[in-house]
Parts: sequence; structure tokens; C-alpha cells
Amino acid sequence: MSETIKETIDIIVPCYNEEDVLNMFYTELTKVTDTIKDYTCRCIFVDDGSRDNTLPILRELAEKNDNVKYISFSKNFGKEAGMYAGLEASTGDYVVIMDADLQHPPTMIPDMIEGIKEGYDCCAARRTTRKGESKIRSFFSRMFYRLNKKMTKIDLVQGAVDFRIMTRQMVNAVLSLSERQRFSKGIFGWVGFKTKWLPYENVERPVGTTKWSFWGLFKYAIDGITCFSVAPLRMATAMGFFISIIAFIYIIITLVQTLIFGISVPGYVTTLCAILFLGGVVEISIGILGEYIANIYMEVKKRPIYILKDTNLPLGGTKDE
Ligand code: UDP
Ligand code: MG
Repeated sequence: MSETIKETIDIIVPCYNEEDVLNMFYTELTKVTDTIKDYTCRCIFVDDGSRDNTLPILRELAEKNDNVKYISFSKNFGKEAGMYAGLEASTGDYVVIMDADLQHPPTMIPDMIEGIKEGYDCCAARRTTRKGESKIRSFFSRMFYRLNKKMTKIDLVQGAVDFRIMTRQMVNAVLSLSERQRFSKGIFGWVGFKTKWLPYENVERPVGTTKWSFWGLFKYAIDGITCFSVAPLRMATAMGFFISIIAFIYIIITLVQTLIFGISVPGYVTTLCAILFLGGVVEISIGILGEYIANIYMEVKKRPIYILKDTNLPLGGTKDE
């Protein structure tokens, strides 16, 4: 046995309607993976129920290249589900997750591998600029990071993206969190391990458009907090206490006033303000409660995170015995 068996790297790429960019992406990726000599690289594309030609393109790539694998979902389950399926299907010693739209430069992969060689469990990319993104989106994004940091114990790194390499040990840890409401940015932080951050400049999409809508991002931000923290529930309780104390003081003042000066009829504005304010507070509290009940509801149903329709991996790609 003179030749040692090389360690393997699985590159997971979630794709949703990426027909325009897939071939370009694969060319760019192979340019980089061809230079990696110490490891065997394999690509696992996850077609997240695309409605365009993504799947036929993936099949064609897989036919031409032995190291291309694909998993195809029965419908669109979202990028989080795509990443989970990819991780579940991976068997490599190391796993890379990256987007198909070339916004995650493949040229960073060798640097990430260096990070692993230095002894880190994970080496992840962090955007330092938000070039090409609307001002309002960057503003809300910054607000989200600040709020999230305050409310959850997980330190989300500003500008952190999903583009990263992880050791098998960390991948298994991520997979052990099999919750349905997946918020990967939080999950990666929650599992711990040593992460090295590689800064990079935001790259604009060469073709196609982002799959994120403003409403989608808003829901994502709410999930980011409610999946990792019960702070909003505590805030509702604290708000209740605070308002009760104010109300109690006000009641005493009004009682004393009435006893001393008699009943004064005017009070329309005060009553209206109190009703509207309390109505608002109660609605917000119910909303917060509702978010958590919704999370419980989704979890207890124990629906699968994704449904597989087609793959060229053995055994449906879930296990590799
Ligand atoms: N994606 C996916 N399922 C979805 C939406 C997106 O698999 O429902 C993939 C998409 O094909 C891309 C990556 O996730 O590879 C990031 O998507 P996008 O570029 O739309 O997000 P952004 O870069 O704007 O955060
Ligand atoms: Mg993108």
C-alpha cells in the first residue's frame, strides 16, 4: 500500500431555478477543484423543485462527470431543506456548502481547506461589503443582526454567509439538530466548534435574480430569533408587569383625586388612549405567543424536511451503507 487513500470533500450546492448559471458555475468550480490535489472532490447538487431546466442540466452534468451527484425534491422546500438534504447525503470527510449563483467565489475553497489544515473545525466566508444590495435591505439586515445578538445567546457574525467548509464531526452535529424550522446561520453557531472567518467582497449575481422577497427575509429574521430564544416571551411578560405597575399608580392617583375633588366627567382622551395602547400591547403579546405556538405546531407534526423525487446517489442518498 504505497498510495494512501485521499480524504474526500463533498461540495453541496442547493439550486432553485438556476438554469442560466449552472454550467458556468460548474466550469468555475472545476477550475478550482482541479487544482486541489490532496483531496478527492465530489459535487452534490440539490435541485430544490426547480421549475426550469435545472434538473435536466444536472442530469447532463452527472452523465458527463462521475463526481457529480444530484438530489431532486418533489417541490420547492427552500434552501434550508436543500442544505439539510445535501448534508444528509454527504459522506465526505469534509463538506463545503455553497450557492450556485457564483456569489460564493469557488476560488476561496483552497483558502478554506488551509483553515481546516490549521486545525479549525469550520472555515466560513464573511461578507465585508454589501455592494449591489439595496440600501434598505442592508439597513434591515444590520438591524436584524443587532437585534438577534441581543435576544439570542448565539453570536451571529455580521455578514456571515452559508458558504463554508466543515469537518465530518461538525456536519454530524448540524444533522443532529433535525428541527423542521431550520435557521442554519443559528444552527452553525449553536453547535459550537472552532470557526475561522474569511472576509470577502460581495459579488453580484452574474445572471438570474435573488430568490428572496422582502417578506421572505422578514419571516426569516423572525425565525432567526424565535428558533433560538424565548426572549420575546419574557419581554411580553415584562411589558405586562410594567403596564400593571403604571396602571396601579394611575388608579391610586385617580381614586385620591375623585375622593378629594369629586367625580370629574371629562376623561374621553385618557380612556381612548388607554384602550388603544393596551389593545396594541395585547395584540403584540398574542402575536409573540402565536409565533412560538406556530413553531411548536410545525415541530410536533414531524413532517419530513424534504421529499426526494430523484437522485443518482445510492439508496436515495440518505445513507451510504
Ligand atoms: N435556493 C434554493 N431554494 C430556494 C431558494 C434558493 O435552493 O428556495 C438556492 C439558490 O439556487 C442559490 C442559493 O440558494 O444557490 C441562494 O439563493 P439566492 O441567490 O436567491 O439568495 P441570496 O444570494 O440573494 O441570499
Ligand atoms: Mg445569491
